[in-house]
Amino acid sequence: MKFSNFFSPTLKNIPAEAEIISHQLMIRAGMIKQASAGIYSWLPIGLRVLKNIENIVRDEQNKAGAVELLMPTIQSADLWIKSGRYNDYGKEMLRINDRSKREMLYGPTNEELITDIFQSYITSYKDLPKNLYHIQWKFRDEVRPRFGVMRGREFLMKDNYSFDLSEEDAKISYDNMFTAYIKTFLRLGLTPIALRAETGPIGGNLSHEFQILAKTGESTLYYDKELEKVNTKKIDPQKLQSYYATVDDLFDENECPIPKEQLNISRGIEVGHIFYFGTKYSKKLGAYVQNNKGKNIPVHMGSYGIGVSRLVGAMIEAFHDEKGIKWPLSVAPFHIVIINLMMNDEKCEKLSLELYNKLKKESLEVLYDDRDYSIGRKLSDNELIGIPYQVIIGKRDLKNNLVELKNRFNNESKKISPDEVLNILLDRVKSIL
Ligand code: ATP
Ligand code: MG
Repeated sequence: MKFSNFFSPTLKNIPAEAEIISHQLMIRAGMIKQASAGIYSWLPIGLRVLKNIENIVRDEQNKAGAVELLMPTIQSADLWIKSGRYNDYGKEMLRINDRSKREMLYGPTNEELITDIFQSYITSYKDLPKNLYHIQWKFRDEVRPRFGVMRGREFLMKDNYSFDLSEEDAKISYDNMFTAYIKTFLRLGLTPIALRAETGPIGGNLSHEFQILAKTGESTLYYDKELEKVNTKKIDPQKLQSYYATVDDLFDENECPIPKEQLNISRGIEVGHIFYFGTKYSKKLGAYVQNNKGKNIPVHMGSYGIGVSRLVGAMIEAFHDEKGIKWPLSVAPFHIVIINLMMNDEKCEKLSLELYNKLKKESLEVLYDDRDYSIGRKLSDNELIGIPYQVIIGKRDLKNNLVELKNRFNNESKKISPDEVLNILLDRVKSIL
């Protein structure tokens, strides 16, 4: 992609409406534009990151055996009246009337709809277990939308739903998803802390919240140090669930079950939440299956959510410095940016295009900054946007056959020959594709 053809409107000044760093950086880097309170347009750079995160979430769901489908954003009120949540949900639910005055709503979550799909087709224990998910926009009319995409009103969520014959089986599904969540967050380069949580309006008796560590998070976490030392090759959900972890309002120094030396305190951002709620919805919405004795029994269900759009903000909270965003390669909007500092120099232009074409041929995502802007503007824009590898090409160094290769993630840079740059990039970037 040539930057001159691209659309990435950067801003120099900190926007007054943005309180936290990720929100400020998302606006300044041209990732989002507010359409109305808590509702955003995703501009090209923002959309690329959102899609990359979505794809990692999807890949880990598929690997865990969940099956993707897609339910609509607009739902009829009927099923919600049946489940009893049409009233319970209150003002957070956006209610809509269609032209025939039928009551509709913009889905805040999908337990009702998925249970209805399930009960329409599945009637035997032989077809269990099932784990279905989708990645779809939700709407919750939050009292205080704030912090940009971290607490929006319209937001993208991955939500799945498990169906099992017994509580015992349902716990296996629960642990399977627990493991998939830890894997997903680790793959994004984050440190996930799982906490036992209240089940709230979804109901039920087992629930965990997943928080990621970030200095600027909304909650303060108190947790066993061991939770930071997950063996990525062998994730043990039972063991991870057995460690102590809680949020500040539930923490009591005198009742803390672990010694002080074992305790870590850090800020966190909630990025996922999982629930086992038994037969609450299956009974109300008629999701019964025949067991092996011919008896009809309600299925045991769980639901599992990841805030995909919130993760974009959360990752920036975890990965930034005073100059801008520092994307990990796995979710970066582009892998490499070639910054030509001298657009009117023939040699700089020739080398830039040559590198650009060679890297593109290897299926790497490359942005070529060919804009006719000042050196200062180009460098600061790129620090802000945070593409992990910068190849900086200028006239003076090129005389000695040198270009600068900068790793934006750790801010290390070196001057080497264009051939070496090519080798290093092919080697490093291809290894993660
Ligand atoms: P919170 O306590 O932050 O309101 P919740 O408990 O209401 O979250 P769930 O219903 O469990 O959230 O939704 C699953 C995930 O969706 C959450 O863990 C979070 O990452 C994300 N999420 C929830 N509400 C929002 C929102 N308003 N904006 C962005 N993401 C959200
Ligand atoms: Mg909420």
